[in-house]
Amino acid sequence: MSALLELDDVTASYGHVQVLYGVSLAVEDGGAVGILGANGAGKTTTLRAISGMVRTGGSITFDGMSLVGLRPDQVARLGIAHVPEGRGTLGHLTVKENLLVGAYQRKNRAEIAQDVERCLDLFPNLADRISASAASLSGGEQQMLAVARGIMARPRLLLLDEASLGLAPSTAANVYGAIGRLRRESSLSMLVVEQNAALAFTLVESATVLETGRSVLSGPKEELMGKDEIRRAYLGS
Ligand code: ATP
Repeated sequence: MSALLELDDVTASYGHVQVLYGVSLAVEDGGAVGILGANGAGKTTTLRAISGMVRTGGSITFDGMSLVGLRPDQVARLGIAHVPEGRGTLGHLTVKENLLVGAYQRKNRAEIAQDVERCLDLFPNLADRISASAASLSGGEQQMLAVARGIMARPRLLLLDEASLGLAPSTAANVYGAIGRLRRESSLSMLVVEQNAALAFTLVESATVLETGRSVLSGPKEELMGKDEIRRAYLGS
C-alpha cells in the first residue's frame, strides 16, 4: 500500500535561492511523522512545499495525486490543513469567527456546528473565550485556536509547524496533549515540524531529520531516540 503523503527528492527555492536539495519522507494513512532539524534546515519550507507556497521540484504525492504546481487553496481542498509557524490567527476576528474561517470550504452548517463543539471540547480554554478577539488571547490559546481552525476544515492530513514556539513548557505540553488526544480519537494523519524533539516524540511514531535542506536520517522514534547524535542535538542529553 502506498503512503498517504509521499515526498521523493523534493527541491524548493525562494526566487533564485534554493533551500531544499532533496527531501524524502512518507506519512502513512493515520500515521504521524515528525520533521526535526536545526534552525534554517528547511523544515518550514518542506511544509510550504507541500502546501504549494514555494516553487518545488521532485515528487510530492497525496493519495496518489501529484501536488507539484498546485496553489495553496487547491492543496487545502484536497484535504490538507496547514497550521503555520507563528499561528496565523486573525486577530481582529473572534475565536468563533476564526473557527468558521477554517470551515470556509464546507457547506453543511449542522456538521460545522458539531465540529465547533468538538474543537471547544478538545480545547476548553477556547470555550471560555469564544467571543473574545483572537488578538486578546494568550500565546498558548492562540496556538490552540490555530490548530482548531485547521481541524475545522475536516482535513485528512494536518501539517503542524512549531506548535510549541514561544510557549512556556507547561503550555506547550498542554497544546501537544490536546493534539495527542485528537490523534487518538480520529484517524487524522499528521506531519509535525518541531524544534523540541522530546515534545514531538510524544505525538509521532517516526521522524525525518533535515540538515541544510536534505533528509539525512529517518526511522521509528525508538530507533532515533537511541542514537547518540540525536540525543545530543535534539534531546539535550
Ligand atoms: P526555523 O526553525 O528557523 O524556522 P527551518 O528549518 O524551518 O528553520 P526554513 O524556515 O525552512 O528552515 O528556512 C530554510 C532556509 O530558507 C533558511 O536558510 C532561510 O533563511 C531561507 N528562507 C526561508 N524563508 C525564505 C524566504 N521567504 N526567502 C528567502 N529565503 C528564505
